[in-house]
Amino acid sequence: MSDPTVHFADALPPRAQMVVIGGGVIGCATAFFAARAGLEVAVLERRAAISTLTTPVSTGAFRLQFDNPEEIATVREGVELFDAFAERTGLGGWDIGLRHGGYLFCSLTEATLQRSRALVERQRAWGLTDVELLTGDEARARWPWLSPAVRGARYRAGDGWLDVKRLSAGYAAAASNAERIPDAVGGGSATFVTGVDVMGIEVDGDRVSAVRTSRGSIAAEVVVVAAGPFSARVAAMAGVEVAMAPTRRQKLVVPEMPSVPADAPMTIEEETAAHWRPAMRGCLALFTDARMGAGEPMDPVPIEHDWAFGLLDPTSDHALARVAPFWRDAWGGGAPTVHWFLQAGQYEYTPDRRPYLGAAGPDGLYLNAGYSGHGIMAGAGGSRLVVDLVTGRADAAENPYRPDRSFAERELDIL
Ligand SMILES: Cc1cc2nc3c(=O)[nH]c(=O)nc-3n(C[C@H](O)[C@H](O)[C@H](O)COP(=O)(O)OP(=O)(O)OC[C@H]3O[C@@H](n4cnc5c(N)ncnc54)[C@H](O)[C@@H]3O)c2cc1C
Repeated sequence: MSDPTVHFADALPPRAQMVVIGGGVIGCATAFFAARAGLEVAVLERRAAISTLTTPVSTGAFRLQFDNPEEIATVREGVELFDAFAERTGLGGWDIGLRHGGYLFCSLTEATLQRSRALVERQRAWGLTDVELLTGDEARARWPWLSPAVRGARYRAGDGWLDVKRLSAGYAAAASNAERIPDAVGGGSATFVTGVDVMGIEVDGDRVSAVRTSRGSIAAEVVVVAAGPFSARVAAMAGVEVAMAPTRRQKLVVPEMPSVPADAPMTIEEETAAHWRPAMRGCLALFTDARMGAGEPMDPVPIEHDWAFGLLDPTSDHALARVAPFWRDAWGGGAPTVHWFLQAGQYEYTPDRRPYLGAAGPDGLYLNAGYSGHGIMAGAGGSRLVVDLVTGRADAAENPYRPDRSFAERELDIL
């Protein structure tokens, strides 16, 4: 059977119950949950194709190893959906390239080892009981390519990654064929319009009434802002001020590198947060460069080659070779022996690095944004919550991600 297709329309529909601004993974997930809940949805995307800005730059990885019970629950909900994606969406046989390859956090110093142990203890108290604490030797017994410098590690086999394009397209296809979704309430539908730039949100009295675009206006009862790094700018169109700091993040893509073990987990150095995972016949590698300050939302997002040298040069203070010495092979003393290229996107950081989910400003306006680097893994639970808040199935008072929350001081996540 051929894959169900996404319902694209050439023209803007005159009205929709819910207009979603932004057709990245979050806009597509919102459409899926809303169509499942019986809503008639229109997704508006400025670019010529959906899921082409931040979403494809992602590593597509997910982990339950978080430092608070709320985000553990949100990501857990998403992983349960990923595990049964084809059945839960009604897309028989739809493959999202899911792989529970595990997340391995490696400590090179006693300080991060202690922090790691304390975190795992807290995670156990929150019911996350399958994170293993390993000594350096125990870790090397499983992954012999780890450096002798690794003193200890924490590992969860159930963490992993998936194909973000297939996930986004799956949400969009399922939303477009809502009658196939097994637990749909009925009557839901989704239409995707690309090449349409949202330029204004109209408010009538206290309520949103329409969305103004480069191709005309569309009347709406509910408007969901899912514009990724552009979300603060879009929310401002309805007079809503949102604290959000778009910050450039890059990804090193090595399509082929024979020394990368294909069965390696996502491998992270706790000290620097430099990390990589297998992909294609090589891998994807990342590093959160603290020198990259926040700025304006960008499209396109430029790349900067020096950043890659910091990962590849074994003498760098955040070299990938610190944890996995085979990375020296890729450097060749400054004469790289593998092909690589960079992709860049932006994390849309909120002050506490948790998303903004729920009502904001005029009645009918909702935010589904600010995932701060976790939109693939948290976007399913987050979008389901936003739709439940719209339909009244969820209680706004119990929503830990409400946009008007006060920001608790906490140590910020390293990835
Ligand atoms: C290097 C990197 C690695 C990452 N790795 C991971 C990971 O491993 N796991 C994970 O969970 N997350 C990861 N993320 C984060 C994840 O990619 C994002 O959280 C997620 O893609 C956000 O999706 P989105 O739909 O909100 O944004 P986007 O994909 O940016 O989509 C927003 C869309 O809105 C559109 N838009 C904006 N303004 C307008 C307008 N005015 N009118 C119409 N359309 C508009 C844009 O064109 C865009 O297509 C990573 C991010 C980066 C940069």
